[in-house]
Amino acid sequence: MNFIDLAAQQKRIRQELEAAVKTVLDHGQYIMGPEVAVLEKRLAEYTGASYTVSCASGTDALLMALMAYNVGPGDAIFTTPFTFIATSEVISLLGASPVFVDIDPVTFNIDPDKLEEAVNVSVKSLTPRGIIAVDLFGIPADYRRINQIAKKCGLFVIEDAAQSFGAEYYGQKTCALSDTACTSFFPAKPLGCYGDGGAIFTNDQSFKDILTSIRVHGQGADKYENVRIGINGRLDTMQAAILNVKLDIFPEEIRLRNQAAERYRAGLASCDFLTLPQVPENITSVWAQYSILTDTPERRGQIMNILKANHIPTAIYYPKPLHLQGAFAKLGHKSGDFPISEDCAAKIFSIPLHPYLSAADQEIIINTIMQVKL
Ligand SMILES: *Cc1c(COP(=O)(O)O)cnc(C)c1O
Repeated sequence: MNFIDLAAQQKRIRQELEAAVKTVLDHGQYIMGPEVAVLEKRLAEYTGASYTVSCASGTDALLMALMAYNVGPGDAIFTTPFTFIATSEVISLLGASPVFVDIDPVTFNIDPDKLEEAVNVSVKSLTPRGIIAVDLFGIPADYRRINQIAKKCGLFVIEDAAQSFGAEYYGQKTCALSDTACTSFFPAKPLGCYGDGGAIFTNDQSFKDILTSIRVHGQGADKYENVRIGINGRLDTMQAAILNVKLDIFPEEIRLRNQAAERYRAGLASCDFLTLPQVPENITSVWAQYSILTDTPERRGQIMNILKANHIPTAIYYPKPLHLQGAFAKLGHKSGDFPISEDCAAKIFSIPLHPYLSAADQEIIINTIMQVKL
């Protein structure tokens, strides 16, 4: 059994993938070939955002967005400590300071009440500039509240939609829920390519133009005019070609992911030592992960062991919140600073979920978990 079955997906679309790759081999435009512009247009249409700027990874997407906002030393960016390192790594990389805000224990996303408190406390010698909210495990954060708080304080909002591409919030797709959004096409993400890839979304044409310049070394009117510091952040033509094929089956894959999640919900609902994921009203998830909370850290160990003994893969996202990572030691945080994140880190685990997971395999997983004795 696989945690994520990319081989099953490849098998299904192998012919289309080969044709798309062959087209790139034939025209030979490996950098910014026509597939890139096609993909960007399709991603904008899919999400409802006015502009899409594709790029080399989800991490570059976040980095480029912060660079486009001129974020640098002395700036404070509010974000969650319960996420993948990339979300706040890019803040530090630019010399700015992540200011962590604890999460909501139900959605695992940044808690708007705590965000409101945090933005109203003046941070010593820092200029509050923006918020990076994360749509963890595929569930969008609460952008109505987040955008409102940001507007009141003149902050920008970046949606880290690396795990939520295709999810919906009040009828609107992610990547069009705030000023700017970033997503990742890392193979294991809901929409993945066969290498690294990412994209940035915006409704602001001048912001899009800045991103396009940053993507190619801060280029100006032509190749050898550089008007700002940028990076080499382009998406490969090959990856764009692969994404164009995968995008065709993506809506159906989202339906299959939701079907699998519903089977877990029905099968595990009676397990009183588990808290299953709950999707808030007016929101849909793309189930980047099916993450469950156990009643105690010991129970998590017990369940993961019994699953392992039965050759069922599991994972922990995330075992250590970012404020306790050595990489952020400079921020001076300690255990207890963000208790909800720490509690989730101790009790959370994820079980296999992907569009090609069979009902029979899910039954085995459910029955194995049910064997755990209270
Ligand atoms: C995967 C991920 C990223 C980084 O994306 P890459 O394409 O791997 O660079 C950023 N934020 C979150 C929440 C992610 O899950």
